[in-house]
Amino acid sequence: MRRPLVAGNWKMHGTRASVAELIEGLRRQSLSGDAEVAVFPSCLHIAQVVEGLAEVPVVIGGQDCAVEPQQGALTGEVAASQLREAGCAMVLVGHSERRLSLGESDEVVVRKFVAAQACGLIPVLCVGETLAQREAGETLVVVGRQLAAIVDAQGVGVFARAVVAYEPVWAIGTGLTASPEQAQEVHAAIRARLAAQDADVAGKVRILYGGSVKAANAAELFGMPDIDGGLVGGASLNADEFGAICRAAGN
Ligand code: PEP
Repeated sequence: MRRPLVAGNWKMHGTRASVAELIEGLRRQSLSGDAEVAVFPSCLHIAQVVEGLAEVPVVIGGQDCAVEPQQGALTGEVAASQLREAGCAMVLVGHSERRLSLGESDEVVVRKFVAAQACGLIPVLCVGETLAQREAGETLVVVGRQLAAIVDAQGVGVFARAVVAYEPVWAIGTGLTASPEQAQEVHAAIRARLAAQDADVAGKVRILYGGSVKAANAAELFGMPDIDGGLVGGASLNADEFGAICRAAGN
């Protein structure tokens, strides 16, 4: 039995004032505990969120980490060990905005994944195809390649301490959502790929769907057998909307 996870990616949004409002809004939500809830604020706001949500069962995560696990001479980067010390338990790796806009390769994503685990963080590995790749019928090849980068380098066992997020690039921030059936097909393929090497790990790993998830479509998506919750961008900036999505995952 996999406990659902709903993760809010706040991206490069927020001021101290708007983050304080979001914290207040999250504190007012009734979260049943059936689903695990996590938020990923910008690095600048992690300390504020850790403090503001101290008595609330919400996990805090970083949006990225350096390829080097420990602090050192790497200007502008944040080490996984620093995220851990700041109170994070998770970190996103390989988000498509970083893969596509910042040119992050699979090799870099593998190093970040390894750095995160070395510091006791749970990496949330983001995978997903562009619209052109979907239209060319390459979805499973692309997602399989992104997954294989980790499995080939580290072995399938590392997914016992990781989360996968399937995020079709064409559905991120566009208002377009993969249908539950489209998402389920990819989630099942991801699980099958992992199961080919270790059925136990594959059966336990949580695979989140991300791409314009909102309260109105969450229950249908989360009702699919291989969708174990969501990675939510835009809708996670509204505490009431995000709370409703978390409750949909807990039902
Ligand atoms: C994301 O950036 O991870 C995401 C899923 O964004 P949105 O929900 O806004 O599509």
